[in-house]
Amino acid sequence: MAFELPNLAYAHDALEPHIDTRTMEIHHGKHHNGYTNKLNAAIAGTDLDGKSIEDILANVSKHSGAVRNNGGGFYNHSLFWSVMSPNGGGEPTGDLAAAINGAFGSFEDFKKEFKAAAGTRFGSGWAWLCVGKDGSLCVCSTPNQDNPLMDVAECPGTPILGIDVWEHAYYLNYQNRRPDYVEAFFNVINWEEVARRFAAA
Ligand code: MN
Repeated sequence: MAFELPNLAYAHDALEPHIDTRTMEIHHGKHHNGYTNKLNAAIAGTDLDGKSIEDILANVSKHSGAVRNNGGGFYNHSLFWSVMSPNGGGEPTGDLAAAINGAFGSFEDFKKEFKAAAGTRFGSGWAWLCVGKDGSLCVCSTPNQDNPLMDVAECPGTPILGIDVWEHAYYLNYQNRRPDYVEAFFNVINWEEVARRFAAA
């Protein structure tokens, strides 16, 4: 049973001007599709075939580099598309807002910490808002296609929001201006989906 590239819930141009159309086309259709196909090739005929992606990532230290990189790439991008929306932006409400205020002091303080994590990740990787093992929220970043679900993660937890800071995620529109891309990402964050993931975590 193979993993499938998820469809986007919006058009490629729907996140303009924050995330440009061409980047979305290449990022979803080429990069995410590539991770998906390579993950399937890496698990075909092994005992990982048929396991959930969460299961695979939770024991990723036992698997090959191809499973780690492409399994992470498959999961991370699936989450990434879902936490963006053309109707996004603004601030969270309800329980999630209260948890963010409790963990970081305020939404602005959270944003500062998240932007710092995304901005200081050297090279390629991701920044995350996670529900930690003790149920509290934390911000962290991971290299390459790693994520907090992996047993190799320095910041274990359940990611509920993530931003891709690989250059392929922003270079066409922002070139080397990663901080501008991270700031723009806040205009498209789908806080309803982040709240749904928070409640489920
Ligand atoms: Mn990417």
